[in-house]
Amino acid sequence: MKVILIAKAVLVDITKCIGCGSCSVACKLWNDLEFDDSRPTVGVEAQLNDVNWTAVQRHDVQSKDSPQALWRFVKQQCLHCLEPACASACFSKALQRNDSGAVVYYPDLCVGCRYCMIACPFNIPKYEWKKTFPLVTKCQMCSTKTASGEAPACVSVCPTMALKYGERSALLKEARQLVNTNHLYIKEIYGEYEVGGTSWLYISDVPFEQLGFKTDVGTKPLPSYTHNFLKYTPFLAIGWGMFLTGLSFYTKRRNKITSQKQADDDNKETTSRKSESTEETNNENL
Ligand code: SF4
Ligand code: SF4
Ligand code: SF4
Repeated sequence: MKVILIAKAVLVDITKCIGCGSCSVACKLWNDLEFDDSRPTVGVEAQLNDVNWTAVQRHDVQSKDSPQALWRFVKQQCLHCLEPACASACFSKALQRNDSGAVVYYPDLCVGCRYCMIACPFNIPKYEWKKTFPLVTKCQMCSTKTASGEAPACVSVCPTMALKYGERSALLKEARQLVNTNHLYIKEIYGEYEVGGTSWLYISDVPFEQLGFKTDVGTKPLPSYTHNFLKYTPFLAIGWGMFLTGLSFYTKRRNKITSQKQADDDNKETTSRKSESTEETNNENL
């Protein structure tokens, strides 16, 4: 079993989120994701998709103390499970949990089977359906940024400190202290035990089921179900393995073609720049 050296996490305090959307903008800028007005990242209609790796959903909830409806904002992204079902389902190891706790996607290894999408209990991985050579997409917990000791992009821009990055054990301690001493909060930390625990933890003043959280996922890590399923279906596993081998050839070829196309485009651009510059020189000499 892999030993996790320093498991990092993010604690989300829903009572502090004002729905400003800075986190979603930072996510798009850092990950070079398209801005698409028809697919909002903040509000009632906000949803995760191939270009929204994070979305801040608005929920109208009823307060027990007042007849007026309240707004609560919930930042969504991959929860980076401690024992990720997506990684367990991925035969080609395109999804792997690293030592700091991020579940990272490696596109070069992906065969496009989309088994991770079925396995994820939170419906997180998305697919680039519109692209000629589609890939799976999801939050990477800014793994290249955190590798150099920085916080994820979304966390670093949050103006209200609704997001806090740090060691999971320390954040859990802080969260427990808050929910047990401050009557504002419900006495629960989402992500502490769900599917064996996650690296994104949430505290709230409104029950999680009213905020769109999946509260029926159980506390057992889901990879154990994947292993059991395959154990009892050896023929399916073998057939699936052969199918994936075929897909692997396809993926390698696809990546080769994409790289070649990129190189061709770069060459064309360089040649075009050179000829423009020669033309300008000739014009100046006339
Ligand atoms: S939330 Fe889904 S995609 Fe993210 S690590 Fe867990 S199983 Fe994988
Ligand atoms: S951790 Fe990085 S990739 Fe994930 S939601 Fe935040 S900014 Fe986006
Ligand atoms: S940046 Fe912070 S306050 Fe703004 S929407 Fe994101 S989590 Fe909420």
